Amino acid sequence: MKYISTRGGMAPAPYSAILLEGLATDGGLVVPETVPQLSAERIEALRGLSYPELATEILSLYATDIPRDDLAEMCRAAYAADKFVAAEIVPLTRLDDAITLVGLSEGPTLAFKDMAMQFLGQALEYVLARADRTLNIIGATSGDTGSAAEYALRGKDGIAVFMLSPQGRMSDFQRAQMYSLTDENIHNIAVEGVFDDCQNLVKELSGDLDFKRAHTLGTVNSINLGRISAQMVYYFWAWLRATDGVAAADRAAFEVSFTVPSGNFGNILSGHLARTMGLPIRRLVLAANENNVLDDFFRTGVYTPRAAADTYATSSPSMDISKASNIERFIFDLLDRDPARLAAAWAELAETGTIDLTAELHRLETEFGFQSGTSTHADRVATIRDVHATSGIVIDPHTADGVKVAREHTEPGIPMLVLETAKPEKFPDIVFEATGERPGMPEHLAGLLDLPQHVTEMGNDAARLREFIAERAVRA
Ligand SMILES: *Cc1c(COP(=O)(O)O)cnc(C)c1O
Repeated sequence: MKYISTRGGMAPAPYSAILLEGLATDGGLVVPETVPQLSAERIEALRGLSYPELATEILSLYATDIPRDDLAEMCRAAYAADKFVAAEIVPLTRLDDAITLVGLSEGPTLAFKDMAMQFLGQALEYVLARADRTLNIIGATSGDTGSAAEYALRGKDGIAVFMLSPQGRMSDFQRAQMYSLTDENIHNIAVEGVFDDCQNLVKELSGDLDFKRAHTLGTVNSINLGRISAQMVYYFWAWLRATDGVAAADRAAFEVSFTVPSGNFGNILSGHLARTMGLPIRRLVLAANENNVLDDFFRTGVYTPRAAADTYATSSPSMDISKASNIERFIFDLLDRDPARLAAAWAELAETGTIDLTAELHRLETEFGFQSGTSTHADRVATIRDVHATSGIVIDPHTADGVKVAREHTEPGIPMLVLETAKPEKFPDIVFEATGERPGMPEHLAGLLDLPQHVTEMGNDAARLREFIAERAVRA
């Protein structure tokens, strides 16, 4: 399996090469040359596998340049029972007759990003060692992404992490989770400023090609194809578990739908790829919060990213996006994988601020199964309250966006699986607003808030940051 660019200007490259890169060399995104197809029999043969075994099966179709035994070892380490609260790694929980939650937040940082990051941490360490290379990850976080990256990369050989966060703007929980790490390769930097200041510092240093090369800088953001490929696994897992109780003769054609709380379109893109591979998925329902550029796209066929200044700060903050980077990969498929058409669409976007795909609108649902909806703060509060009252289960605000939109798209006889993207303990304020109860610390994290914290405070100062990284970067 080789990987190509959506814009057609990159020589085909193997999995281990693209794992270390962000964008393709021509500015496009990396996609598989062809998407592997699995017959109903082959999917059925996966039923008895554990989560790490299933991950090995699915990922071996993409990481074809990594020996299978090595891949199996990485998957065992990534999805080890001692890193996840639930023994089955991804538990399914019925909310009511129509809706089932897919538990993707049982990992170390209580959010679904662990599912992909844990694998990526293993794969990066392996690929770097084989190539005798090092990688210094530089990133900006307002919470979730940074902690998932740090927990996946802590203690890894050949890798260091420099994670910038805005001083005083994360929750106590998020601070404690990141700053309590004592691993020598993890560097937390609290920048005087807001998230955008952190992001700008990262852009400035990554854009300085000499500095980037000298210190082997890299990123692990949501366009990383290693993350996208690891996320496909839980769509297969969820379908297999949802159909365990279906009579064997009816399973092959048994369709389920998924609703996915979405931001950068990474999670649901993995669902689109799983569906393309042959998994019987009827609908992929995209749930947006008030930053609903993608809901607009799926309803109208017109994609118009917002300016950062027009992006709302909401109570489901991990979905607060102005543009959705991964949509380029889906639009590549929508334009029949024609790089010339894709490049033309992105040129149109650069010139006019909009891509008009109304000519393809009918295919979004009929051919690709997409539907979408929007949820607001009031919807999140009402949904958390209602789910708690009727089932006793407390959900987080992102999952609540999912449940709200899922309810508008259920169909008789088709199970609706909502991806749980975070645990409520991370967002105590809105849970309190909805239920009158503040979620306590999960048992396995008791004492986290009292641990000593390790963080370097820094002004919004690129020169100082360069010095800091130059002194601490790992070298071959
Ligand atoms: C990252 C994140 C999302 C959005 O996922 P995308 O892959 O960017 O669409 C949703 N919910 C939570 C809790 C997240 O951390």
